[in-house]
Amino acid sequence: MSAYKQIVIAVDLTDDSQKVCRRALEITKGNKVNILLVHVVEYIYQMGISYDPMFYPSMEDLSENEELLIKSAKEKMTELIKEMPAPETVCLERSVISGIPKTEILRLAEEKQADLIVCGSHGRSGFELLLGSTANAILHHAPCDVLAVRTKKTKE
Ligand code: AMP
Repeated sequence: MSAYKQIVIAVDLTDDSQKVCRRALEITKGNKVNILLVHVVEYIYQMGISYDPMFYPSMEDLSENEELLIKSAKEKMTELIKEMPAPETVCLERSVISGIPKTEILRLAEEKQADLIVCGSHGRSGFELLLGSTANAILHHAPCDVLAVRTKKTKE
C-alpha cells in the first residue's frame, strides 16, 4: 500500500481530538506528509434554526460572537498541536472556519486533493453504537479513504 501524502484531520476539539491526531501521526510512519488539521465552528448555523421570535440577534452580534468562537477554537487548536508535536517529516497546516462540519471537511478534502481523511468515530453528537453524524457523512461522501478512529467504547 502506498503511503498517504495529503491527510485531512477533522477535530471537534473535545478530549478525543488528541487520540484522533495521534492515530493520524502514527500512520505517517516517518513519510513526508502534508496534514491539514481542521475544525469547523457551527455557530451561525445553530442560530439559524432558532424559531423564537423574541430572539433575533443582529448580524453584528452574530458575527462578533462567531469571531469569539473562532478565536477560542484557534487557541484550543494551538494547545492540541503543542500536546502532540508533529515530526519533521510532517508539514502541518491548520484551518479554523465556520460552517457545517461535514460540508466544510469534505470541501477542504476535495480542495486539498486529500488521499485520507481522519476523524473520530463519535463526537459530541450521536448514539454510542452508531457512527457520529459527521463521521457517517464523511464516510459516505469522501473522495478518498477515511479512517474513523474509535473514540467511544461500544457496549459489550
Ligand atoms: P460526531 O458526528 O459529532 O459524532 O463527530 C464525529 C467526528 O467528526 C469527530 O470525532 C470529529 O473527528 C469530526 N467532527 C465533528 N464535529 C466537527 C467539527 N465541528 N469540526 C471538525 N470535525 C468535526
